Amino acid sequence: MEIQLSDGARKWQRIGRDFADEYLQPHEVEAELNDGRLAPEIVKRNRDRAIELGFPGLDAPAVHGGLELAMVEQVAFWEQLGRVTNALSWCFPEAQRWMFDACSEDQLQRYILPLMRGERKECYAITEAGPGSDVSGIEATAVRDGDEYVLNGEKWYVTSGNLADFFWFQAKLPDEDDEALFLVDQGLPGIEITATPLFSHTYASHHPTYRFSDVRIPAANRVGNPGDGMAYTHSWFRHERLMIGARSCGAAARLIEDAVAFANQRIVDGAPLSEKQLIQAMLADSVTELWAGRLMTFEAAAAHDRGEHVKSLHARCSIVKLYVSEMANRVADRALQIFGGRGYMRENVAERFFRELRVDRIWEGTSEIQRLIIARALVKRGLDGM
Ligand SMILES: Cc1cc2nc3c(=O)[nH]c(=O)nc-3n(C[C@H](O)[C@H](O)[C@H](O)COP(=O)(O)OP(=O)(O)OC[C@H]3O[C@@H](n4cnc5c(N)ncnc54)[C@H](O)[C@@H]3O)c2cc1C
Repeated sequence: MEIQLSDGARKWQRIGRDFADEYLQPHEVEAELNDGRLAPEIVKRNRDRAIELGFPGLDAPAVHGGLELAMVEQVAFWEQLGRVTNALSWCFPEAQRWMFDACSEDQLQRYILPLMRGERKECYAITEAGPGSDVSGIEATAVRDGDEYVLNGEKWYVTSGNLADFFWFQAKLPDEDDEALFLVDQGLPGIEITATPLFSHTYASHHPTYRFSDVRIPAANRVGNPGDGMAYTHSWFRHERLMIGARSCGAAARLIEDAVAFANQRIVDGAPLSEKQLIQAMLADSVTELWAGRLMTFEAAAAHDRGEHVKSLHARCSIVKLYVSEMANRVADRALQIFGGRGYMRENVAERFFRELRVDRIWEGTSEIQRLIIARALVKRGLDGM
């Protein structure tokens, strides 16, 4: 099921696949049975190799030492990392292109360039319990006091909060009738973890709830210019939605391959399971939907590389996130069914993906929110404007 790719995209597809096969996949069951954690020497080995290969700077501009890959190349890479469960692929920090538009030279030096060198680790504190999906209703505040801002608010589901050393923190600025993103160091007075809930997946990255009470940060840590509002958080959403599409394609491909391998060797009623037409129908539907998902994801990435209008890209990333995440969930459900009772065991890849892929329909905006974005774009700009 080859998509015509440039030499560069094929190269990054191969690098991603080799890394997933050699460094990550062999450790999935160990991670699953150990709360998502791996032995420290394996974590270090994977991280060192990822940094050596330049993964933290895939999206970063060359002028700042990044690899400045085309979006199609990045999708080809992340698709391969999506083949692995337990979020083992999250073994390196990630500097994204928008950060270089958003951040001052001082912020680049203190946060983003160290991120690319693997010296710092980021997490995102955007979501709140009250507004939830409606991020325009965020209630956390940032109030200017001399050459500082004072932050207050509670943030939920801060992924990798247990591993990161700084937050991207979104807040309203009531005194300035504005909103903005801030860079906030972990461990400052007034930052407190109020809960570390358990979730369905088994990740080393936790998703704690944080309370920020009168946290003082330098005014120089405000990101962007007055009026930028949620623009950079939306840039992050677009990037993540597209890469969720890429990883979901990789997960679906792995599930189909493993389900076929199992169905070929499992004899029922005197014949391989793969010869049973009810099983074939599940595989055929899965392959057909995977093909649609891959075409859609790679084309949305190509639209980024062609420099199409940001409003059109925003809608396309939502279409990818909606369709491909839901497609991968259907594929995981069918794969688990094909494995039968074995598919319900935690050592089984379908069982893990069945739980893990569920959150791709929730985070970075639920499927319902993606539908609202798509419908609004359609009504405002018509099919040709999407
Ligand atoms: C494991 C995990 C990790 C996460 N990591 C992060 C992170 O690192 N940083 C971060 O900031 N956030 C993170 N999130 C938060 C995530 O983005 C939110 O959970 C998500 O956006 C949904 O918000 P909510 O949970 O408040 O749901 P709610 O907004 O309460 O929605 C509940 C239900 O109502 C539906 N709904 C809401 N509004 C509408 C509407 N207008 N029309 C129709 N239906 C609607 C939703 O689709 C959903 O089905 C994470 C969440 C999870 C579960």
